[in-house]
Amino acid sequence: MGGNIAVIGGGAAGMTAAIHAAACGARVTVYERNDRVGKKILSTGNGRCNFSNERMSADCYRGGGAGLVDAVYARFGVRETKEFFQGLGMRIRDRDGYLYPASGQASTVLDVLRYELERLSVEVRTCAQVQEIAAGPDGIAVSAGGPAGESYDAVILACGGQAAPATGSDGQGFVLAQMLGHHIVPTVPALAALRCGEDFCRRAAGVRCEARVALYIDGQAVCADTGELQWTDYGISGIPVFQISREAAYALRERRSVTVRIDLVPDLGGGAAERAFWEKRWESKAGQTAEQFVTGLVNKKLALLLLRLADIGAAERAAAVSLSRRRRLEKLFRGLTVTVRGVNSFEQAQVCAGGVDCAEITELLESRLVPHVYFAGEILDIDGLCGGYNLQWAWSSGAVAGRAAAGQGE
Ligand SMILES: Cc1cc2nc3c(=O)[nH]c(=O)nc-3n(C[C@H](O)[C@H](O)[C@H](O)COP(=O)(O)OP(=O)(O)OC[C@H]3O[C@@H](n4cnc5c(N)ncnc54)[C@H](O)[C@@H]3O)c2cc1C
Repeated sequence: MGGNIAVIGGGAAGMTAAIHAAACGARVTVYERNDRVGKKILSTGNGRCNFSNERMSADCYRGGGAGLVDAVYARFGVRETKEFFQGLGMRIRDRDGYLYPASGQASTVLDVLRYELERLSVEVRTCAQVQEIAAGPDGIAVSAGGPAGESYDAVILACGGQAAPATGSDGQGFVLAQMLGHHIVPTVPALAALRCGEDFCRRAAGVRCEARVALYIDGQAVCADTGELQWTDYGISGIPVFQISREAAYALRERRSVTVRIDLVPDLGGGAAERAFWEKRWESKAGQTAEQFVTGLVNKKLALLLLRLADIGAAERAAAVSLSRRRRLEKLFRGLTVTVRGVNSFEQAQVCAGGVDCAEITELLESRLVPHVYFAGEILDIDGLCGGYNLQWAWSSGAVAGRAAAGQGE
């Protein structure tokens, strides 16, 4: 058991892989191109690091590798992750199922991982950007720009994807995977804001409101989410928008038509109850202005915007608003439609969808093409929803790949 193992990439997945491989007795070297490991972890969860979620299932993952989730989590899932971090001395705070370090600081997660790497005598080489990798008779040769490469019994590729390249993951891992013969599923930014064509987004910029956002591709409803929507001067953002963004990005890549219907009163229900709600409101506010009619339903800025879109003057008497314009206004509350022109770039995205084709990977995350090469984290064609799912994939895949590379896969 053990061997001489290289981990390429000192992010969440790479550090976890290195710790588990070293704990199995391997001699481990981590190559990290930045001047320190774990840079991205510091910016996660708005600096608080939402590192996992108690509500976990394969449904929370997308991409060709989503089928790997169950097998990997059966070996190292949320429970094992909690035990792992608690074992490193980190207390955990559970906020309605969303898990954070109790310190409220993402740096705690990084610190405990760094201390463990040290304790296990893992060699961490920073400012070491791996540029070449090749399998040969003496093992797998890795070169970080020096005159000669070094050979290892096993290598774990954990270079991340392309999201937030300022933290080090700029897609170079895909180039390394391709050197070994692997295929890359086209990548797009995910968990990102959407850029919309409508001018009214700019007018609503700054508003945050509860809403249900439903994504339509070529007129067909594809997915939806409910939560706090944020209006920006270029479009829409916020967690529910992030959750639907990868589907939007792939559809736009295929030049399909992408729209989002925004229900600004998702709690209103539908059918007869909704009809009764509007009828009662028109009746009770008949003597008031249209502005007074909409006041209290949603954020005032949005309410006035909807009046304008329905061609109703704010000072108009509610009773004087024609039936067709009443219906138009009601429909706008339930389905304000925006046309998606683009998805924010990798620079602003939290995750990269696409990546190394998981059909070429075993359940132990070993390459089917080159034995003793393993993959962990976002480099694979698998991306999770917002809510701790992407880091959980990094911990789980890191632990499984690390143990398997050290010969303790089962
Ligand atoms: C702003 C932001 C907030 C986020 N918040 C959350 C959150 O709260 N919860 C959650 O679950 N997820 C969150 N995520 C997503 C999560 O951080 C990532 O999915 C996760 O960190 C991926 O881990 P990784 O180790 O696979 O890749 P990375 O963290 O990207 O690590 C890859 C590492 O490899 C290094 N590297 C790349 N190429 C080479 C090379 N050739 N040689 C040497 N080193 C190389 C990089 O420098 C980098 O350090 C967030 C992401 C962002 C950008």
